[in-house]
Amino acid sequence: MHWKDRISAIFSENNWRTTPALWRIVKFLEANKKFHSSYDIANHLKEETAVDPSTIYRLLERLEKIKFVHNSMGKWIWCRHFGAAGQHHFLICSSCGNTEEILLHYQDAMTAQLKKNYNFQLQEAELILHGICRHCES
Ligand SMILES: [Zn+2]
Ligand SMILES: [Zn+2]
Repeated sequence: MHWKDRISAIFSENNWRTTPALWRIVKFLEANKKFHSSYDIANHLKEETAVDPSTIYRLLERLEKIKFVHNSMGKWIWCRHFGAAGQHHFLICSSCGNTEEILLHYQDAMTAQLKKNYNFQLQEAELILHGICRHCES
């Protein structure tokens, strides 16, 4: 099923309306796979028709709830691995800014260490790793 149909189906299950603003946000995030704040997105969309940042924020929260986007420190990114098991993490290139979503499977090891050393029960891990991407490596 195409992501557009999935979003439509999940939105209708939740009795949320799908609006032209929603599809513009989704289209923007799908085409620009980096972290964006609601203000960044509002700035990009306003060239065509302005959408209020608070509307964008509310729609992003819904997309996050249904796991189509990830949120880190008030910035959102399209999930490239929708529905994939494992932990979704990000590699961000310090040189070109390229952002890549990757899947890693080491949560059991981390969970055990956190429990042992900090008595902390890990529920979810989402790491943002900074480094140099394969295109920038000299
Ligand atoms: Zn993801
Ligand atoms: Zn790079």
